[in-house]
Amino acid sequence: MTTTDNYDLVIIGSGPGGYVAAVRAAQLGLKTACVEKSPRLGGVCLNVGCIPSKALLDSSEYYHLAREHFAEHGIKTGRLTLDLATLMKRKNRVVEELTDSVRKLLEGNRIDIVQGTARLAGDKQVEVTLGKKKRVLKGTSILLATGSRPLEVPGMPFDGQKIVSSTEALNFDTVPKSLGIVGGGYIGLELGSVWMRLGSKVTVVEMLPKIATTLDGQVGRALDRILRKQGMLFHLNTRVVKAQKTAQKIKVTLEKGGENTAMTFDKLLVAVGRKPLTEGLGFEEAGIETDPGTGHIIVDTAYQTRVPGVYAIGDLTPGPMLAHKASAEGIAVVENIAGHAGEVNYDTLPSVIYTWPEVASVGLTEEAVKEREIPYCVGTYPFSGAGRARCMGEKEGFVKLIAHGKTDRILGVHIIGPRAADMVAECVLAMEFGASSEDIARTVHGHPTFSEALQEAAMAIRKCSIYVS
Ligand code: FAD
Ligand code: NAD
Repeated sequence: MTTTDNYDLVIIGSGPGGYVAAVRAAQLGLKTACVEKSPRLGGVCLNVGCIPSKALLDSSEYYHLAREHFAEHGIKTGRLTLDLATLMKRKNRVVEELTDSVRKLLEGNRIDIVQGTARLAGDKQVEVTLGKKKRVLKGTSILLATGSRPLEVPGMPFDGQKIVSSTEALNFDTVPKSLGIVGGGYIGLELGSVWMRLGSKVTVVEMLPKIATTLDGQVGRALDRILRKQGMLFHLNTRVVKAQKTAQKIKVTLEKGGENTAMTFDKLLVAVGRKPLTEGLGFEEAGIETDPGTGHIIVDTAYQTRVPGVYAIGDLTPGPMLAHKASAEGIAVVENIAGHAGEVNYDTLPSVIYTWPEVASVGLTEEAVKEREIPYCVGTYPFSGAGRARCMGEKEGFVKLIAHGKTDRILGVHIIGPRAADMVAECVLAMEFGASSEDIARTVHGHPTFSEALQEAAMAIRKCSIYVS
C-alpha cells in the first residue's frame, strides 16, 4: 500500500547541499523531509569525497613526516612500519562519526529523514522506493540535490578492482606498487599524493599541457615542480587510448603527439571529472531541462528549474563541483523559497587542492585579469621569508595577490604553501567587503604566523614590503 505525506519542502539527497538546505528550511519553519537512498547521510562529501580523502591525506602526511622529517627534529623512530588496515579504520571512523552527526542534526531539527530511492512522480510528488515498499511525499516545493557521479573514459569502464574511481581509491587494502592516474585535476593530485606518500610509484596522465588547469598559471607551475620533486611522475599532453587487463596488472596505451607508448600499472585510477546525477529520477518526464553538453540542470537565479516549485542545487547545477558551493546554494535556495533574499557570491568562492603544500585560491587568476584587460598590480611573497614557515621547515610556496591597478581593490589571491586552505578565508572575507590590498597590508597580523606572508604580499603591491630589499 502506498501512503502519501504532505510537506512544505521535500529534498532529494542528503549531501552538503541537501542536508544544509534541510536544516535552514527547518529553522525558517518549513515542514521538511529529506530523502536519501543510502543508509548513511552526508552524500559524496562525507562518505566518499571530501572527508575520507582528507583523513587519508592527513594520515599519509604524518607517515611521510615521520619517515622523512622527524630525524631532522631529533626524533628517532626506529624502523617505521605502515599499518594500512588501521589507517583505513581510522578514516572510516571519522566518516561514521560525521555522518552520525548529520543524522542527529536533522533529527534535532525535526526533519523527517526518509530512506529510499526517490523519483519525481508528477504534480509536486516524490515517489520513494525502499525494497518492496513505496511511499509518496507531496511537497509544496521540491529540491533536487542528488549530486554527481564519476565520469568514465570510453572503452575503460570501472571494474572496481583494477580500473577504479575515487571511491575505490579511498579504500585499497594494500598499497599498489604502481598507480596510474588518468587526469591531473583535484582527485588525481590529492589521491595521487596519498598513495605516493604511502609508497606507490604514481604516474599521472593528463591530456592538457598542464595539471590543475583552473589554477593561476604561476601557482600551477609551482605545484607541478613541487609534486615532481616529491616523486610524482607526469605525462602531459597525453591521452590514455587503451587499457588492457592482464592477470595481475593493467597495461595502458598512451598517445602523445601521434606516438603510442605502453605502461603497466597495478591499478588505474580514472579521475577525469564528474557528471551530474540525473538518471532514473523522472526529471525528463517532469520537464526538468538539462544542458545537453554538461548534463547540469538549468536553473534561474533563485535556483528554480523550468518546472515551477522544483529547485536544484549543488553538483547538479552549473559551477564548480564543491561542497561549500552546494551548501551555500542550499541556504540561498531555501531562503528564496521562504520569501527571503537568498544569494551566493560566486566571485568569492574559494577553492583548495589539499596536496602538501596546499593550494588555495579565490577570485581571478592573472591570466583572467589579462584576458579581461583589467589594469592590475601583483604582489608576491615567498613562505621562505615567513618565520613561522621556517620553524616548521616549510620553505616552499608563496602568496600572490592581484589588485586592481587603479582602485587597489583585491581581484584575486592565490596561495601555495602550508595551511593555505585556512589562510584563504581571510582573503574571501576581504573580497566580500570589497577590500583593497592596502586594507590587508595595514591589518596587523599575529607573529609568527603564515598569514604574515599574505600581509607582505599585500605590502609588495605598493613596493613597501618590509622583508624584501
Ligand atoms: P552529493 O554530496 O553528491 O549528495 C547527493 C546525495 O543524493 C547522495 O547522498 C546520494 O546518495 C543522494 N541521491 C542520489 N540520487 C538519489 C535518489 N534517487 N534518491 C535519494 N537519494 C539520492 N569538495 C570540496 O569542496 N572539498 C573537498 O575537499 C572535496 N573533496 C572531494 C574528494 C572526492 C574524492 C570527491 C569525489 C569529491 C570531493 N569534493 C570536494 C566534491 C564534493 O564532494 C561535492 O561537490 C559535494 O558532495 C556535492 O554535494 P551535493 O549535495 O550536490 O551532492
Ligand atoms: P577535475 O575536473 O578536477 O580534473 C580532471 C582532469 O582530467 C582535468 O585536468 C582534465 O583535463 C583531465 N582529463 C579529462 N579527460 C582526460 C583524458 N581522457 N585523459 C587524460 N586526462 C583527462 O576532476 P576530478 O579530479 O575527477 O574531480 C572531480 C571534481 O570533484 C572536481 O572538479 C572538484 O570539483 C571535486 N573535487 C574537489 C576537491 C577539493 O575541493 N579539494 C577534491 C576532489 C574533488
